[in-house]
Amino acid sequence: MYKIINSKYIWCPTNGILKDYSILIRSNKIQKIDHYENLNKLKYKKINIKNSILIPGLVNSHIHLELNWVKKRLKYSSDFIDWLSQIIDLKKGLSKNQLIKKSIKEAITECANCGVTTIGEISSYNGLDISIIKKSGLRCSYFYEIANSNSLSFEKNILKIGKKVSNNKMINLKVFPHSIYSLDTSIWRRCKKFSTKNNMGLGTHLSESLEEIKFIKGKKNKFDNIIFNKLKKPPRVKRKSTFTPLKYLEDLGIINENITLIHMNNLSPEDKNIIKKNQLKVVLCPRSNLFLNEKLPDLKFFLDYHSTGLGTDGLSSNNDLNFVNEMSFLYLNSKKLNIENLKEKILSISTIGGAKCLGLDKKIGSIEENKIADLIAFEIKDQDPFDSIIFREGKNIRLKMIDGKIKKFQ
Ligand SMILES: [Zn+2]
Repeated sequence: MYKIINSKYIWCPTNGILKDYSILIRSNKIQKIDHYENLNKLKYKKINIKNSILIPGLVNSHIHLELNWVKKRLKYSSDFIDWLSQIIDLKKGLSKNQLIKKSIKEAITECANCGVTTIGEISSYNGLDISIIKKSGLRCSYFYEIANSNSLSFEKNILKIGKKVSNNKMINLKVFPHSIYSLDTSIWRRCKKFSTKNNMGLGTHLSESLEEIKFIKGKKNKFDNIIFNKLKKPPRVKRKSTFTPLKYLEDLGIINENITLIHMNNLSPEDKNIIKKNQLKVVLCPRSNLFLNEKLPDLKFFLDYHSTGLGTDGLSSNNDLNFVNEMSFLYLNSKKLNIENLKEKILSISTIGGAKCLGLDKKIGSIEENKIADLIAFEIKDQDPFDSIIFREGKNIRLKMIDGKIKKFQ
């Protein structure tokens, strides 16, 4: 029931980096953090990972496990619209559950191998992935994805999945209207009503492409001209020249602490004020933005912001799902911005920041007494121990623990 972890360094992040400290774990919780000598007097099982740095488990706050299969079938895409158009066509021709399940398993393995202990999973196949996620042991915020095409009885379907996971403390259910351009305004209102009634968080892709900005302002755009030609019925969306994607959601009364916004790489100064004023949670997926030839988000703004998380997005818009690679990409692209303690900020975004974005920060995301023991340790191979986390692709992970259970120890 009790175990002690001995690690050369522990990064909390609340207390920064501690040297020669140990952690006492009772069942699935962190009971005490104290000096090595004090805790090691106790006669409990010891886990010695001495030349390592122990940190909270990584939180990949935005991923589509089900989209791995798309990668092999995608042609080069010149921009976001071209890419989206290919995804719509590929999904139309697909009805193979086995292929989707294989994608989910592969994606989970890649996540788990690089130190991710929690995922923000976006799922559009009506619970097909639930049993695989349960089996993986990963913690999961499960976002049920809704577009016009599957909106008919989404409320009933989500409640059905809710019953399947009601006894599982590792999975919590949320609602994910796909985007402002794929749902009627009236369906957005239903999503809002449903999430409020059932006390479920909401998430959505927002301000991802420049075309989306033109679309919501009612200007000439490629959603109307290309994407909607592929659909039986184009979504009926309220538009206004004064809207930004964020102001559209504000108009719908959806802007509050229960919403998590994904991407946000095309913001107006007023949007940034709305984010700060409402303390909105934002998940960045920078490699996905670049993959789709969009600009990167305002990294200076989001690295200094308290509720930023990080995600790989799906393999359909990334080269791999290695979360550590996402962290190093973020580091290399932020280096020139002269941000203080940049490596620690990136680690914060990847742990406690992600936990905030998934509404799990009271339970996980930092090493503190009474929090759940979701932990990973990286063997130190560099002068700066943070380099051994950010720049080694997760190949030097020595310990992984989720919910107090050891998943890897070598
Ligand atoms: Zn996404």
